[in-house]
Amino acid sequence: MGISKGKTVLVLGGSRGIGAAIVRRFAAQGAQVIFTYFGSQEAAEALAAETGSTAVKTDSADRDAVIARVRESGPLDILIVNSGFAIFGDALEQDPDEIDRLFRVNVHAPYHASVEAARNMPDGGRIIVIGSVNGDRMPLPGMASYALSKSALQGMARGLSRDFGPRGITINVVQPGPIDTDANPADGPMKDLMHSFMALKRHGRPEEVASMVSWLAGPEAGFVTGSMHTIDGAFGA
Ligand code: NDP
Repeated sequence: MGISKGKTVLVLGGSRGIGAAIVRRFAAQGAQVIFTYFGSQEAAEALAAETGSTAVKTDSADRDAVIARVRESGPLDILIVNSGFAIFGDALEQDPDEIDRLFRVNVHAPYHASVEAARNMPDGGRIIVIGSVNGDRMPLPGMASYALSKSALQGMARGLSRDFGPRGITINVVQPGPIDTDANPADGPMKDLMHSFMALKRHGRPEEVASMVSWLAGPEAGFVTGSMHTIDGAFGA
């Protein structure tokens, strides 16, 4: 309990993995947490019941639905944009509609949600977007669309930090390396290859990412904005 007591927090994409760890962290700190889900209704309802938070279905690929969700949930003290996914495979073979959906979820939603949240955010508000170390380093073929989407968040945070800075609103990107979730299980077929790039030869835990998010959202990080915060066991080093 403590640092987030009384704060209103919206987590876009909170039903599973890193997002669920973030929901749990803010709820444990006494915040009023609202989170979105899309495909995982059962997991979302269970998490809401466990944490006393509110789950709402919103497709992050739907720009207008994202903007409406942010507006209806506000004014927000803290916005976390976590929803995101990767598409693997030969760039020459990939379905352009699927790639565009990835850009809507991974890039358009973070931008429009951040701008909409800032309209009514009190001075000193916090926006945190989950990027990826792949925004800095992409050592494998087949993931260019994902790398592009996570690099785009860097420019967004740099730019919007200038727009929102006069009101003391900060915006930062957290860039995880391999984290043990459904999207990237610690015992998955790629684990040895991924660990070969790293100084710490293990996947991170969603809770470790939530700790960094919590710090960025808290009072000790008031001078931190427009920057990238990598938590990757030195995957990108
Ligand atoms: P998971 O696949 O385990 O969970 C993804 C979460 O995002 C789910 O709660 C899912 O909700 C939600 N989500 C996905 N698409 C949508 C959508 N269209 N609308 C609403 N919610 C959506 O992923 P992770 O926890 O691993 O990843 C979370 C974030 O962290 C992503 O942005 C990812 O790129 C990033 N990341 C992850 C890394 C990893 O190794 N795990 C490494 C670096 C970055 P639902 O199931 O209800 O649709």
